[in-house]
Amino acid sequence: MVTRNLHGKRLATQAVHAGERARPDGFVPMSTPIYSSSTFLYDHLADIDAISSGDRQGFTYSRHGNPTNAALEEAVALLEGGQYALSVASGMSAILLALMAAGVEQGSRIAASQDLYGVTAKFLLDVASRWGTQIGFVDVFTPAGREALWASAPSVLLLESLTNPLLRIPDFPTLVTEAHSHGARVIVDNTFATPLLLRPLQHGADFVVHSATKYLGGHGDLTGGVLVAQQAYADEVRHFSRLVGAILGPFEAWLTLRGLKTLPLRFARHCENAQALAEWLSSNPRVEEVFYPGLPSHPDHHRVAQFFGGLGAGGVLSLKVRNAGRDEIFRFVDSLELFLKATSLGDVQSLVLYPAISSHRDLSPKQRQRLGITDNLIRLSAGVEDVEDLKADLAQAFAHL
Ligand code: PLP
Repeated sequence: MVTRNLHGKRLATQAVHAGERARPDGFVPMSTPIYSSSTFLYDHLADIDAISSGDRQGFTYSRHGNPTNAALEEAVALLEGGQYALSVASGMSAILLALMAAGVEQGSRIAASQDLYGVTAKFLLDVASRWGTQIGFVDVFTPAGREALWASAPSVLLLESLTNPLLRIPDFPTLVTEAHSHGARVIVDNTFATPLLLRPLQHGADFVVHSATKYLGGHGDLTGGVLVAQQAYADEVRHFSRLVGAILGPFEAWLTLRGLKTLPLRFARHCENAQALAEWLSSNPRVEEVFYPGLPSHPDHHRVAQFFGGLGAGGVLSLKVRNAGRDEIFRFVDSLELFLKATSLGDVQSLVLYPAISSHRDLSPKQRQRLGITDNLIRLSAGVEDVEDLKADLAQAFAHL
């Protein structure tokens, strides 16, 4: 099958087949190659039959699986302490597949933390609700909110490991235990914490989702997502993924796999820099309040020690600039040189985001106020630069106020 003799064939035939389908001979590439191939070939039809029926492992068609993606999936599953992972086109498609595999259908009630990433909330309202589901946004941080949560009898609870932008940390073990006792499945978006801080499956969560666009990739050069599920859901995830087709391209899978190699190093530095910036900003008279769970003033500071395993409190922090409105915030952010104005986080470069005009833009001023997203709040994603340069950048921007 693989190497047909092309000598004596016509040019059009040679052009199509020449140089392709060589079998590696006696060497192993150190880095998993980018298998940029839609289809995988076998000598015998029986091989394809065995793979398609699940009797044998292998790859036939990239929408069903690809060796580069499989390498990434193996790595993320290992890091998250799970048995099954699937790489997909974006964080949003990981959330979609998790909801589908969690059994969401017409009549289901989805409970979601009210602090969810804005687009996830919008997805629930604009897409999931069209399937005939009912969506409830709940405050998982107060007893009254939790009571209302379980009174609504949801079949799925959707949480984030660190909320955006106020960096709240839910009480995972309690919420998972309560969810399971009420027959609900739990999906945790672990984008902000990464498995370096939290492994939600070990707390009993059913699904973990990541926007690999952020820390897993880490260099601002890809869009991707990963879903990790308890083994019991593997068949469902695989089934829906083949039908939805929101797969990750092999090049992006390769970039993410490469990013993972330095994730522990990068993430330690992100945490260290964020902690140093949070402490420094706390004593700055231009700053009204700093939100970072590594600070004793944060309402969930105790949970860092309880759940986060000692590496730190994450790479994202937020602050309220004293006596500032939109104009002052625009001036401050425009003055920053190292912090890049970007609608993202988790990159090696430090980033700045203004929630009122980006992540929480679609909310009314009243809704934002209720969530504590005031007009003087900005979010920083600490990169891996030298923290003294980051402080100097912020200091010169404060001088423009
Ligand atoms: N989840 C969280 C917590 C996010 O911050 C984001 C994007 O910012 C997403 C999911 C969506 O990820 P993506 O942009 O890769 O679809």
